[in-house]
Formats: sequence, structure tokens, C-alpha cells
Amino acid sequence: MERMPADQPYRSLSLWLDTVPGTLAPGDPLPGDLAVDVAIAGAGLTGLWTAYYLASAQPGLRIAVCEAEIAGFGASGRNGGWCSALFPASLAKLARAAGRDAAAAMYRAMQATVDEVGRVVAAEGIDCHWAKGGTVHLARSATQLDRARDEIAEAREFGFGEDDVRLLTADEARGFASATAVLGGTYTPHCAAIHPARLVRGLAQVVRQRGVRVFERTPVTGLAPRALRTPHGTVRAEYVIRATEGYTPALPGLHRAIVPVYSLMIATEPLPGPVWEQIGLAGRPTFGDGRHLIIYGQRTADGRLAFGGRGAPYHLGSAVRPGFDRVPAVFAALQRTLAELFPAAADAKVTHQWGGPLGIARDWCASAGLDRVSGLGWAGGYVGDGVSTTNLAGRTLAALILDTDSDLTRLPWVNHRSRQWEAEPLRWLGINAGLQAMSWADQAEARTGRPSRVAQVMGRFLGG
Ligand SMILES: Cc1cc2nc3c(=O)[nH]c(=O)nc-3n(C[C@H](O)[C@H](O)[C@H](O)COP(=O)(O)OP(=O)(O)OC[C@H]3O[C@@H](n4cnc5c(N)ncnc54)[C@H](O)[C@@H]3O)c2cc1C
Repeated sequence: MERMPADQPYRSLSLWLDTVPGTLAPGDPLPGDLAVDVAIAGAGLTGLWTAYYLASAQPGLRIAVCEAEIAGFGASGRNGGWCSALFPASLAKLARAAGRDAAAAMYRAMQATVDEVGRVVAAEGIDCHWAKGGTVHLARSATQLDRARDEIAEAREFGFGEDDVRLLTADEARGFASATAVLGGTYTPHCAAIHPARLVRGLAQVVRQRGVRVFERTPVTGLAPRALRTPHGTVRAEYVIRATEGYTPALPGLHRAIVPVYSLMIATEPLPGPVWEQIGLAGRPTFGDGRHLIIYGQRTADGRLAFGGRGAPYHLGSAVRPGFDRVPAVFAALQRTLAELFPAAADAKVTHQWGGPLGIARDWCASAGLDRVSGLGWAGGYVGDGVSTTNLAGRTLAALILDTDSDLTRLPWVNHRSRQWEAEPLRWLGINAGLQAMSWADQAEARTGRPSRVAQVMGRFLGG
């Protein structure tokens, strides 16, 4: 991956890194060769949760995390702050692969994970502005309302009740988020809005206090059985864990394991009380709507709207570069969409614009696993749902490494392997065609009021 120049401030990477307390100056790099029990590549939430649960279960364990930049540099320090129970594969898809009970168990584990994150941040004193206000998903057209009904029907089929997710009338939906053109929606209580950089930086501090060594400015150049290589030296370990998500394709032998797809965000200045009276979002539920090209938002603890969406292009060869974080046309589209949703915020100044790569496996199913023979482990492919899923991954990897008997290791995503992405340029063509098709589908649905066929076809091609 391309390194950021040493003098470029990490604060500019997101609203969250800009406003997180404490210094972002990089900690010490790996001083030379080292022997530990567990070596982890990447100090995002995956790497840090894994270290946290390992160190909590076995305080004597020697754990080293090697991070190319600083803890929280990647998606974990830049995301929308939805700590949700969302999982990138649907219940129906999981059921086809692993059976109905396994699918339901996966979704129940995700719900429990939201509360586990809440428990840990409270226990460890990580002030990440936690507000478990749920998620309101607005239906702003008849086709979106149909999709909301289908979602509820699927949830019921798998035994999830009104307490898990429920259909909303237009009035009820507007009671959560008073957006324009609302016809109804869904509400689930299983989501907390958080300040992501406070979570990931706080967690890095907690694991350090527990004796985990986090080496910054230490790019991993190769992962092999019992060895993690860096330009500063080699870390030898019984277990070597890959926690590099959207950056994975830059590692030798892993070009086609995961693709980095960019999600971009904007944030407004803090909005005055009367504007919030018009918008709602009291209790800080996270919000989105039923369009194909995903949008997501939250009311921050300091009264801003932080709002994001997909639509930035995929780059040939799964390239990841700092310059790809910013796409003016996408920022402008996000600002227009936000003003359209909440006209009361139309004149609000946008103070921050940023983006980052998330990771997608070819079959759109996240996974966490460990090859006991080689000692190599991994977790990732969370698409846009990694804030809580990384916690489940961390607990699962810890249980696999420590060989603890746990229901977690029997969940269907454990040791699941996706097939590889296509070689280039097919990959580039397919992903960008998919992104474009989602955008066309939204425009067509808005025009015709009918569900778009192109979205269904592309959805199948992309496997999402
Ligand atoms: C804009 C945006 C919005 C999002 N919104 C949400 C949301 O609201 N809710 C949600 O659940 N998910 C969201 N996501 C996804 C979520 O942020 C990620 O799934 C999650 O943070 C992944 O965590 P991670 O630790 O696996 O990866 P990352 O946080 O990307 O961490 C990987 C780390 O590895 C380091 N690294 C990479 N290569 C190397 C190397 N060779 N050597 C050493 N270190 C390396 C990187 O510098 C980075 O720090 C969003 C993502 C983005 C980009």
C-alpha cells in the first residue's frame, strides 16, 4: 500500500480523527526481530478486538500488532459509526449455505455483539459517545416500501419478532426522522450510534495497558506460517493473523481475496436546536433509506449530521491510495441528498469530507477463521458492517486460537472461504458496472415507481 507522507496530519482523514482527544503522533515502530505468541497485521478494530479478547482471556500471552500507519488509520477511524447488528449476507443466503438455524444463530450473535461492544466500552471507560437509539430505515417510494415489507417478512420467517424489527407507518417513521417523502419504513433497536475514532483509539490504549505491543508505522510486507515480515524485522509467532480488510490485496498472494470499495462521507457543522426540532433523530437513531446505492447517517453527540454513501469508483488492480478518499462529485451528491432528505439542514456548512476503503469478498460473505496447521488466521469482508462484526471476529479468533469450546466458533461464517475475485480487467468492469447500475436503478425507480430489473440482475452478479 502507498504510505502517507510523514508530515501529513492524520486528523484530516475524517471528522472522527479530527475530533478525537489525545495525540495522533505515531507510536514506536517494530524495533527489530521479535518472538511472540500471536502476531497481528493491522490495528483497526479487527486486530485490536482480537488482541483485546486474547489478552483478557490469557494475560500472559505475548501479542504484537503491526500497523502500517497509526491505530485507527483505516475504515475503523473513518466509518459512519453505526454499531449495528447488520451482517453482509442475508438470512436467506446464509440459510442456503448453512441451514436455517445457523442463519438465525448468526443474526442473533450479531444482535448480542452490539450489546457486547456497549458492555466493553462501559467497563473499560472508552467514551465513544455510545447511544443505542436503533436504526430507522425510511421508505421514500412505493418500491422502497415493498422492499421494507419483504425485509419484515423474511425476518418473521426466521423467527425475528416485532422487538427485533418492525414496519413503521409514515407517521411513525417521521417520528424518528422527519425526512421528506416518507411513506413508511422499518425500525430495529439493535444499533448504537458511536464516534468511531474514540472507539478504535480508546481500544488501542486499553490493549496497550494490558501488555499488547502495538507497533505503528510498521507495514507488513508478507504473512507466512509462524512469521510476519516487515522492513523493520520479522515477528515470529505461533499464530499470525491478517486484519487488513480493504488493504489486503496489497499483500503478496492475496490480490484477489478482497476488493477495496470506497465509501465517502460528509459532516455538517453542529446544527442549532430549532433545526434539530425539525429533523428529529432524538435518541440518535442511525438512519438510511431503501435506495440501492446505500446511504447512511447519524446525529453526532455534538449535534452534527454525519452522512455517507457509496458511489465512488473502484480502482483498477484493487488500488488503494490517499487520493481516492476524496471524490468531489460524490461529496456534492451526498450534500444534495442530505438537503433533499432534510431541507432544514440545506444551508448547514459542511465542515468535513472524507472517505475510505471497506472490504468485500467475492461472495459478499464476511468470514473469520484459523488454519490450525499453518497458524494463519484472518477476519474481514465485512462490506459496510464491520463496526460490530469486528468485535464478533475478535472474540471468535480468540476462541479459535485458545481452542476454547464456544458457540461462537460454530457460527456459519467461521472458516468460510469465498472464491477469489475475477482477474483484471474483468473485476474493474464488473464492479464499476455494478455501482453504475445501482445508481441507474435508483433513478429509474424514482421515474417509473416500479422495481428496477437492472438492480436485481446486477445484485445477482455481484452476489450481494
Ligand atoms: C466511509 C466508511 C463508512 C463506514 N460505515 C460503517 C458503519 O457505519 N457501520 C459499520 O458497521 N461499518 C462501516 N464501515 C465499515 C467498517 O468501518 C469496517 O468494516 C471496519 O472498520 C473494518 O475494520 P478492520 O479493522 O477490519 O479494517 P480497517 O479499519 O481498515 O483496519 C485495517 C488496518 O490495517 C492497516 N494495514 C493495512 N495494510 C497493512 C499492512 N500491510 N501492514 C500493516 N498494517 C496494515 C491499515 O492501516 C488499517 O489501520 C464503513 C467504512 C467506511 C470506509
